[in-house]
Amino acid sequence: DFIQMAVRKFRGEDKEEELVIDYVSKNMNNMTVNMPYQCFINGQFVNADDGKTYDTINPADGSIIASVSSASLADVDKAVAAAKEAFENGEWGRMNARERGRLMYRLADLMEEHQEELATIESIDSGAVYTLALKTHVGMSVQTFRYFAGWCDKIQGATIPINQARPNHNLTFTKKEPIGVCAIVIPWNYPLMMLAWKSAACLAAGNTLVLKPAQVTPLTSLKFAELSAKAGFPKGVINILPGSGGLVGQHLSEHPDVRKVGFTGSTPTGKQIMKSAATNLKKVSLELGGKSPLIIFSDCELDRAVKMGMGAVYFNKGENCIAAGRLFVEESIHDEFVRKVVEEIKKMKIGDPLDRSTDHGPQNHKAHLEKLLQYCETGVKEGATLVHGGRQVHRPGFFMEPTVFTDVEDHMYIAQEESFGPVMVISKFKNGDVDGVLRRANTTEYGLASGVFTKDISKALYISEKLEAGTVFINTYNKTDVAAPFGGFKQSGFGKDLGEEALHEYLRTKAITVEY
Ligand code: NAP
Ligand code: MG
Repeated sequence: DFIQMAVRKFRGEDKEEELVIDYVSKNMNNMTVNMPYQCFINGQFVNADDGKTYDTINPADGSIIASVSSASLADVDKAVAAAKEAFENGEWGRMNARERGRLMYRLADLMEEHQEELATIESIDSGAVYTLALKTHVGMSVQTFRYFAGWCDKIQGATIPINQARPNHNLTFTKKEPIGVCAIVIPWNYPLMMLAWKSAACLAAGNTLVLKPAQVTPLTSLKFAELSAKAGFPKGVINILPGSGGLVGQHLSEHPDVRKVGFTGSTPTGKQIMKSAATNLKKVSLELGGKSPLIIFSDCELDRAVKMGMGAVYFNKGENCIAAGRLFVEESIHDEFVRKVVEEIKKMKIGDPLDRSTDHGPQNHKAHLEKLLQYCETGVKEGATLVHGGRQVHRPGFFMEPTVFTDVEDHMYIAQEESFGPVMVISKFKNGDVDGVLRRANTTEYGLASGVFTKDISKALYISEKLEAGTVFINTYNKTDVAAPFGGFKQSGFGKDLGEEALHEYLRTKAITVEY
């Protein structure tokens, strides 16, 4: 199933060039998917410098999908040098902002044309249910590129009144400049979407980038590299290096020619990246872990709260950074809420993620499933009530039953630590105790997202004011949008993805003062 193909790529308006790509090619999901598997450096797919490879696995059955290049330190140096050259001397740096926008729109169009192929690859590499991969993993990635493409020619500075040096006059104006070579390091839960959230803002701002996908999910980022070349991005602007975090991610974070690191992943790795970035004082933005509280009051629309509460936990098999890590349910509706959730779980179809009727796919990789099973064991040991699930599903692959815990007390491990899996953690709160439940919801070092269900708008707004989280959902959940800033407080990190604010994570401000 290895093939080689020459693909046409756009070069400016009229010239077209050929790029030769080696693919692993498979027939699946009623189509042929062609997957590049080598490092993408300076516009070419190449083997790792030392020839090293590793296998990427399909979590639906544990089979090997492809043997992927594992980038070495020498590859990092090459990719950073290519990105630096492209930024300083290539056509990218000279390109008009509107032209840059056109390239990004063209890339978004190509991603959309290949959306079924991308979603299939995402599904087999990450275990995402195909229908969700199509709509969210790929669909939102396309939207993200379109949204930021529109920003390219709207990046403006300001004119600022300063004190005059009489009798002369002064004027200060600011310019927003790209930073230079950016490193982007991302996790495995939404492989393409995490790439899109960071890369689109980074490119719209005019930077060049070297991206390291998570080792366990490299394939859609390499397909993206192919599409970027087809769209006509000049060589060196986008470089993709599959490989290890400790090696490739670490070297990128320390690299003297990298000026910014955009990272999404766990809080411990985020801290490590901040330390590495201190070597040359890189600008850093970090989207880290979460344990997002969801507060459900008895005056909510119960069926909606059940449906949304389940989505808050089980969406993308719980491998969702803003997943509700803890549900606080008001005493008077607690038992009915739990009963309804369990009833709904029993209707969920667990199975082949490529099957259009499947609701719940396999966890991303084996080690993660094992960690989740242990998490549940700890919950039981500490005395929480396991109402449903907690076990691996008896079929090939890394499937886990959607799980529900009740009687979870504040001191317990499962009340404090993120699972990142399909585990609903429910705690009761006393009827009417708004400030009590707020205090408990805020007793966490995380602050990524939060939610509240109530028909009382005054109560909802009061809660939203008091919750220490970068996102608050009222009577909804998981409602992210490319135009709305996304990012955490406290140890969930700093710096926003999406929205106008994300652009400024990848820009620097220059103040220019003239006297006349
Ligand atoms: P992780 O271990 O922090 O890995 C994230 C990325 O960092 C991977 O690409 C990893 O490489 C790389 N990495 C590891 N060590 C590194 C180092 N020393 N220097 C530079 N890069 C390094 O996180 P994970 O366990 O894969 O992902 C789950 C976590 O991500 C959860 O805690 C979740 O909350 C968080 N998350 C947050 C958001 C958000 O928006 N806030 C979104 C999604 C996920 P490898 O591939 O080698 O591991
Ligand atoms: Mg995989």
